[in-house]
Amino acid sequence: TDAPASSVVKPHPPEMENKSADADACGAPAVPAASPPKEVPVPAAYLESTSHHLPSLDEYNALYARSVADPAAFWSDIAREFHWHKPWPADTPPIAWNYDPRAGPVFTHFWKGGQTNICYNALDVHVAAGGGDTVAFFFEPNDPDDGRARTVTYAALLADVCRTAHALRAAGVGRGDAVVTYMPMGVELPTVMLAAARIGAVHSVVFGGFSPVALAGRLAAANAAVMVTCDGVRRGSKWIDLKAVADEAVAIAAREHNHTVRSQIVVASGSRPAGGEDVLMTPGRDVWWDDALQGHPSTCDVVWVDAEDPLFCLFTSGSTGAPKGIVHTVGGYMVGAATTFKYSFNYMPGDVFFCTADCGWITGHTYVTYGPLLNRATQVVFEGIPTHPDAGRLWGIVAKYGVTAVYTAPTALRSLKRAGDEFVTSHNTSSLKILGTVGEPINPEAWDWYYSIVGNRRATVVDSYWQTETGGHVVAPLPVAGLVLKPGAAQLPHFGVVPALLDDDGKVVEGEGSGHLVISAPWPSALRTLMGDHKRMESIYFTRFPGYYATGDGARRDADGHLWLTGRTDDVLNVSAHLLGTAEIESAIVAVPGIAESAVVGVPHEVTGEAIYAFVVLMPGTKGGDALRAEITASLRVRIGPIARVETIQWVGARGLPKTRSGKILRRLLRKIAVGGGRDGDLGDVSTLADPDVLTDLLDGYGK
Ligand code: ATP
Ligand code: MG
Repeated sequence: TDAPASSVVKPHPPEMENKSADADACGAPAVPAASPPKEVPVPAAYLESTSHHLPSLDEYNALYARSVADPAAFWSDIAREFHWHKPWPADTPPIAWNYDPRAGPVFTHFWKGGQTNICYNALDVHVAAGGGDTVAFFFEPNDPDDGRARTVTYAALLADVCRTAHALRAAGVGRGDAVVTYMPMGVELPTVMLAAARIGAVHSVVFGGFSPVALAGRLAAANAAVMVTCDGVRRGSKWIDLKAVADEAVAIAAREHNHTVRSQIVVASGSRPAGGEDVLMTPGRDVWWDDALQGHPSTCDVVWVDAEDPLFCLFTSGSTGAPKGIVHTVGGYMVGAATTFKYSFNYMPGDVFFCTADCGWITGHTYVTYGPLLNRATQVVFEGIPTHPDAGRLWGIVAKYGVTAVYTAPTALRSLKRAGDEFVTSHNTSSLKILGTVGEPINPEAWDWYYSIVGNRRATVVDSYWQTETGGHVVAPLPVAGLVLKPGAAQLPHFGVVPALLDDDGKVVEGEGSGHLVISAPWPSALRTLMGDHKRMESIYFTRFPGYYATGDGARRDADGHLWLTGRTDDVLNVSAHLLGTAEIESAIVAVPGIAESAVVGVPHEVTGEAIYAFVVLMPGTKGGDALRAEITASLRVRIGPIARVETIQWVGARGLPKTRSGKILRRLLRKIAVGGGRDGDLGDVSTLADPDVLTDLLDGYGK
């Protein structure tokens, strides 16, 4: 099935590195790339180090079976552990849904008619139960020694949330109104989210790195009259003036979207460079946070809301297209966030959780603000970045606070691995029990490094697959005795999640095989709608495969029934009628020593249909060339097969790949560059790109 090299019609300029055929002719290099990391059981050292919510794989299996056999009973039993102001009606089913748009509008309801409040369950309940002195947050600033580190207990957090709730009300925020935040990661961000939830408002967090244009669009789409922002933030060694961006966004929103932001509450970061310009405050519109909170009481009544009232709207990162405003509701999201946090990370009193995500992403919503607080957990909130002051920053934090569970992204792990092991081994990371990852399929080499170097083979890896839309984990290897961990696989469905694989025609793939990953029944934290556009939500997620929620990701089921995510289904390459997932190909490329990261895209090819075009980021000191190309070819051959042959390699320098601000590779841009189109302008929406300069380098590198 491998197309003969001589018949290959090369779609690229002749000067390009287009020599996969030559590498084949040379044969595999003498030393093939290392074989893939081995499967390992959940380590005994981990199992002995803690008690367990779920001791064994058998118990997982039993609980999972119950969760899918009778979801209403399973979830309602859990929901009853929370405080409800008014129970859901006894005479209607606690769960109702329609996933088939042909039968009527798509909807999901959990406990509709019941009244609760997620802020009350995250704070008041614990304080009332004697947990007021428990630490909620250890705040760790960007610069380790700037004196801004602080500890916030549950009682103190509740008091601040109440004052903030009053301040929001004073700014005119009422039940159902939207509050946008544009702030750095810190204690104030979850404080505002909880305060909004307390008074029945809807929060919409915009990551404090988006441009004025992107923020303006989100202010208008969320219809927010009040924004909470900050004078600025130091990210690494760079000072970013957030207030200036916020002001520009407000002006753009007025000019281009006819949308008025009435009021801005501005947090003083305390890290503004001395001698710089004053913060521009517009009288009548802008008020400092301290002044806004001043004089308000530290208690505040709770607005009881319906379980199906909206809690927040979060715009997805935009890896695949225009951002979508995903709407989650109060009751189901609360139960889903709390339950997934409890079981995925096996949180026990005394543990210290550390999620490195910003609240600008769903991970920060579910596994900083809500999941941990609903479980009365203690956690580290980190303002900075993993590489400042050096690549040991995260592990220094682990040592400082005795962190037991760390939760981060493969992109961060790859860049830290690239910096060298000594940045880990110079810190004591022996407190770690759980190593969580999220955001993309984790390539086995990064997995192995996380497990061996960071976790000393004593902690268990939780590769959590989920989406903004799913609200919480949907597939993950839970930390249970008897489970064998498979590097690169998310493995087990979470409670209540019924995954299925479908072929292109919508036929169910049984047993071993690959297909479109869909979910056939609702789970509590499933998305409910897209802000202002229910039809768009139906068409994106429910139209191609009526009756299922389509994740848009591909997956493979192995002989044990475990799931391997193979990448987004729009990213699958069709080479000589073989479907290849981008994730597998990239993992095989990154397995070659000297390669830091890779992204592959398909380009049209006359013979094979599509050909693989690989962007390959080199480690410092490594040079791209024929020898390295031969190693890549060999690694692909060993790990996937001869069909996975890279047609074109573009070596990428230190700036790396184009990524969203959440660290995801923007493949749609790479595809345009690979086919040569990027050259003449239209790259589409680049507003979610973290570093626009990356594009210049890539366009320069094209054809060289
Ligand atoms: P957009 O939908 O706007 O393009 P996005 O999909 O990047 O943005 P998120 O909801 O933050 O926004 O990311 C979810 C996606 O990330 C998943 O659909 C999947 O492609 C990928 N993903 C997340 N975690 C994992 C994981 N553990 N393994 C494999 N893929 C993952
Ligand atoms: Mg997505």
